[in-house]
Amino acid sequence: MSTLTLHDWTARAAAIIPEGRAFIAGAFTDARDGGTYANLNPATGAVLNRVADCTAADVDRAVAAARAAFDSGVWSRRTPTDRKRVLLRLADLIERDIETLALLESLDMGKPVAVSCDYEMPMLVDFVRWFAESADKLYDEVAPTGPGTLALVRREAVGVVAAVVPWNFPLDMAIWKCVPALVAGNSVVLKPAEQSPLTALHLARLTAEAGIPPGVFNVLPGFGPTVGQPLGLHMDVDCLAFTGSTETGKRFLAYAAQSNMKLVWLECGGKSPNIIFADTSDLDRAAALAAQVHYNQGEICSSPTRLLVEESIADDVLARVIAESAPYRPGNPLDPATRMGAMVDANHCRTVMSYIDKGRTEARLALGGNRVTIGSSDNFIEPTIFADVAPDATIAREEIFGPVLSVIPFRTEEDAVRIANDSIYGLMASVFTSNLGRAHRMADALKAGTVTVNTVDKISPLVPFGGVRQSGNGRDNSLHAFDKYTQIKTTWIEY
Ligand code: NAD
Ligand code: MN
Repeated sequence: MSTLTLHDWTARAAAIIPEGRAFIAGAFTDARDGGTYANLNPATGAVLNRVADCTAADVDRAVAAARAAFDSGVWSRRTPTDRKRVLLRLADLIERDIETLALLESLDMGKPVAVSCDYEMPMLVDFVRWFAESADKLYDEVAPTGPGTLALVRREAVGVVAAVVPWNFPLDMAIWKCVPALVAGNSVVLKPAEQSPLTALHLARLTAEAGIPPGVFNVLPGFGPTVGQPLGLHMDVDCLAFTGSTETGKRFLAYAAQSNMKLVWLECGGKSPNIIFADTSDLDRAAALAAQVHYNQGEICSSPTRLLVEESIADDVLARVIAESAPYRPGNPLDPATRMGAMVDANHCRTVMSYIDKGRTEARLALGGNRVTIGSSDNFIEPTIFADVAPDATIAREEIFGPVLSVIPFRTEEDAVRIANDSIYGLMASVFTSNLGRAHRMADALKAGTVTVNTVDKISPLVPFGGVRQSGNGRDNSLHAFDKYTQIKTTWIEY
């Protein structure tokens, strides 16, 4: 646990000089046309630094560097054990720089620095170690083709992988995509979200220090239409791994169709149901976990944003969830006591507030609902809960991506399944019950990539993460992540 105080973090924030240039072919470099944009700290409104505003010319440079590195074999033809060694070194360097990375993340997108430093960053170090270790433990197949033949079924790297990621967990999403791709021997071009490029650029520095050769890992800061789209349309990108909105995810499918049929892997939106039955044994614990909807300012795709409660306990559960929401009072992200920081930017703040305004006309506001000013910034929103929400209300259907919970009462198990599955999304679903049969019935019936029982939103390198329906395709985490970054090659030999 970090022992740094608000005073310490504030002093470090004043002293830090973040890198803002792109990282191409092993060196930090300005955008080809010299363009930059102002990167804001949402918790103060102040300009943190100027960041390279990359364009298609930089995409061409980075993809060419990635391709040259891949073809040279400098990384792709190293032994898996060698790649493991380098990536374990990268994990050590991330661990060494945890405080810097947590501070950069907090300043860049508003999350509480202590939560990042004490909890999220250490988990990320474990993640990198887990994947690094897997490098030399993946065995391929020999097909049972019979006497005189030998058919090898092997995974090989796809080549150049582009990763386009969002701002809510900037370093996590970058590492979730890039580390498995690197383990498999690919070269990578990473585009962080325009709001949150700083930890990706620090990661670039660490990859060089760890010994990842020039061109194998590149970072292009910039905007969706000027960097994301040219990556999606590029004829020499073999695979595009994306996390972000469903709307943008659909664009990447179109980009692939318009260009080279690159592999497209999507982790998109969600509106995850969390279903509490009256037979739940520990309602206090269920309520505390339901209140986790406010974690990370509610800016989580897999957050349990629809709380379905059996009617007989609806009032009781609502009261408990309101009580459990108290620690999420908005505060200065640099204060170690803060559990709810700033929303990522003023635009997103306005979007979330417009959903809250809509909710006031659709349902009963039971908690919060206000935008809050702290210091020089008004990018803060109170934890907000709507009760008696109808399943077809806008706030029960659309992804809000803020600290807003919709509580929906239900009568029977069949009702709960029907309401839960009536969504375009299918990322996560949660069930609280002490009835084992019901738990399994629900796990079978719910349309989601992950169903959790008596807990919410469980994410770990050990298990696949991803969605069905318009939440996306493919899986991050676990050995299944390698399905995205490898192609199967058959070699048939007769002897
Ligand atoms: P977004 O889709 O606008 O942006 C995500 C990334 O795509 C950014 O890097 C952005 O620059 C880029 N992008 C935007 N427009 C583009 C375009 N036309 N062409 C190419 N690239 C483009 O999403 P956001 O607003 O940054 O993030 C919030 C959304 O992300 C939420 O809706 C949430 O559901 C989703 N999200 C999903 C997951 C998940 O794992 N499923 C995780 C985090 C966020
Ligand atoms: Mn920022």
